[in-house]
Amino acid sequence: MEIYFDNAATTPLSQRAAKTYIETAELYPGNPSSIHRLGRKAKDELERRRCHIASMLGVNERNLIFTSGATESISLFFSSLLWMEKGTIVVSRIEHEAVTSWTTYLKKIGWNIVKIKAKGGFVSPDELYSSLTPDTKVVAVMAVNNVTGAIEDTKGLVECVRKYEKENGKKILFFSDSVQALGKTGLDLKGSDVDGASFSAHKINGPRGVGLLYAKNPEMIRPIASAGGQENGHRGGTENLPGVAAFDEALTEWMENREDDEKRIGEYNKMLRKSLSKLGLEIVSPESASPYILSVLAPLPSEVFTRMLMDKGFCVSSGSACSNNAKGKSEGILEAMGIRNEKAKRAIRISMGRDTKEEDVISLCKAFGELING
Ligand code: PLP
Repeated sequence: MEIYFDNAATTPLSQRAAKTYIETAELYPGNPSSIHRLGRKAKDELERRRCHIASMLGVNERNLIFTSGATESISLFFSSLLWMEKGTIVVSRIEHEAVTSWTTYLKKIGWNIVKIKAKGGFVSPDELYSSLTPDTKVVAVMAVNNVTGAIEDTKGLVECVRKYEKENGKKILFFSDSVQALGKTGLDLKGSDVDGASFSAHKINGPRGVGLLYAKNPEMIRPIASAGGQENGHRGGTENLPGVAAFDEALTEWMENREDDEKRIGEYNKMLRKSLSKLGLEIVSPESASPYILSVLAPLPSEVFTRMLMDKGFCVSSGSACSNNAKGKSEGILEAMGIRNEKAKRAIRISMGRDTKEEDVISLCKAFGELING
C-alpha cells in the first residue's frame, strides 16, 4: 500500500466530488449553449455552480471564468497582455512554470521582465515597491508557494502596488497564482484586491482538467480560442459541467472542514518538523508556511532519497512534481530563497492533504529514521 504525501502535485478525487460528477453528467446531458430545455437546464446548473463558488470566494460570479486548469487560467490572463501596449512585468523568482513560461515568451517579444527575490521564501512589499517604475504594467506574485508552502503577504503586496498606482496615475495589474491557497490557508480574494487569480480543482480533491480564472475586470480577458463564445466570450468551447459541479462540491467540502483540517494538519506538520529536525535534517519551509507543504533537505540527492522512500511505500516529491520535467524547477525556487544549489538538489517535498492521517505521519517519520540511522 502506498502512503501518499504528494498532495501539492495532485489529490485523489473525493467520493463526494466523484458522486457529483456522475450525477451531474447523468442529470444534465444537454449542452449549456443549446437553446432547448435540456440545454437551458444545463446552463442554469452551470450558473448555479458558478454563483456558489463565487460566494465561497467572496467575489461576484461575473468575475469567474471556468477553464481546463490553472495552467490555462494563467495563460488566459497572460495571453491577454498581447493586446496591451508593451511594458514591464515584475515577477517573483518563485513562480510556477505556468507563469514563468509566459514571462520568458513575453520577454522574447519585447516586454521587459524584472525578477524580484524572495529571501527566506517571501517577497518583501518594500522591495516590490522599489522595483516598480512608471513602465510597470503587471506584477505577478503567487499566493502560496508550491515547493515551500510560503504564504506571501498578498494584501501587503497589492497595497504597495495600489499606492504606487495612485502616485503615478497608471494602472498596474496584480496577478496572484492562488492554486496552493484555495480551500486552505492564505486566500483572501475579497480583502486583497488582486486583478487576476488562478485556481485548479485537482489540488483540492476535485477532478483533473477543471480550473478557474478570477478576473477583476473580465473585459481585459481576450480568449485564446473564441469559438462558440462560451464563458461570456472569454473562453470558447463546451463547458465541462460535470467537472465544474465536482469542483464546486470539492471546494465546499474543503471550506466546510477548513479550520479543523488546518488545525489537524498543523499538528502533523509540527510532528514532522520535530522528528525530522531530530534526525539532523534541515527544514527549508518557513515556520509560517502552509501546514500542508513541508520541504526538507535529505542527506542524499533528492531523486535517490525519494526512491528510497518509495521502496518503503511512501510517495513524496523530489521537487515540484507539477511539471513533466520537474528536475531543476524547485531548485530554482529554493535558490531564489537563498539556498545554495548543492543543498537545493537534496530537497524533498512532503505535502499533506485532507486524507492524511496521524498514523501515516508517524510511519513516514519512522521510515526517515530507518533510512538515516540504518
Ligand atoms: N500553479 C501552481 C502554484 C501549481 O502548484 C500548479 C500545479 O500544477 C499549477 C499552477 C498548474 O496547475 P494545473 O495542473 O491545474 O494546470
